[in-house]
Amino acid sequence: MSTLEQLALRAGRELEDAPALEILRWAADTFGERFCVTSSMEDAVVAHLASRVSPGVDVVFLDTGYHFPETLGTRDAVEAVMDVRVLTLTPAQTVAEQDAAYGPRLHDRDPDLCCALRKVRPLEAGLAGYDAWATGLRRDESPTRAHTPVVGWDARRGKVKIAPIARWTQDDVAAYIAEHGVLVNPLLTDGYASIGCAPCTRRVRDGEDARAGRWAGLAKTECGLHG
Ligand code: SF4
Repeated sequence: MSTLEQLALRAGRELEDAPALEILRWAADTFGERFCVTSSMEDAVVAHLASRVSPGVDVVFLDTGYHFPETLGTRDAVEAVMDVRVLTLTPAQTVAEQDAAYGPRLHDRDPDLCCALRKVRPLEAGLAGYDAWATGLRRDESPTRAHTPVVGWDARRGKVKIAPIARWTQDDVAAYIAEHGVLVNPLLTDGYASIGCAPCTRRVRDGEDARAGRWAGLAKTECGLHG
């Protein structure tokens, strides 16, 4: 087991009950510029938290080429008003180039391949310069996320993975947004509860869990970034 992995597992145990800010302070102090936040621009909660303990922190955003305009607008607003450095990652191929190589609407025919090309591979390349990355994963979002550690080991990438709001509920998120005036994607007030690429995201109905609108009708529940 590597030193970094040992560090991650120990921190996961020691910080399990710590507030989100304390978890992020530990990450910023431990990894400095080799720490970043990733954001889908559903909201800017984790970016906001991280900027409080590490002003100018890197916020990594994956521009798949399939985002809603509102998501790109949220990214631009975060960049304009928050004390963070937004880094936009793009896939190797444009959507048009992917269509030419694999045929149109790959997301309908092979969403796992589409996510690998447009999300997983770009993120792996983008994280190469970091030892640790933070996400907004929460345990209450879906059964697949119920055991998310606040600090864990990302074995696939050989990095420390931090989920500072893993123990938060949707109400906790709403309260933080209201208290701090955090930027949110306007689609959240238009029936969407979890926001990804436009072709693979729909509004949720009453009683559905937050991620029910992602890849609706398919067996797929995750894009592969967190699997
Ligand atoms: Fe492709 Fe859909 Fe995955 Fe986006 S969420 S990368 S459009 S399959």
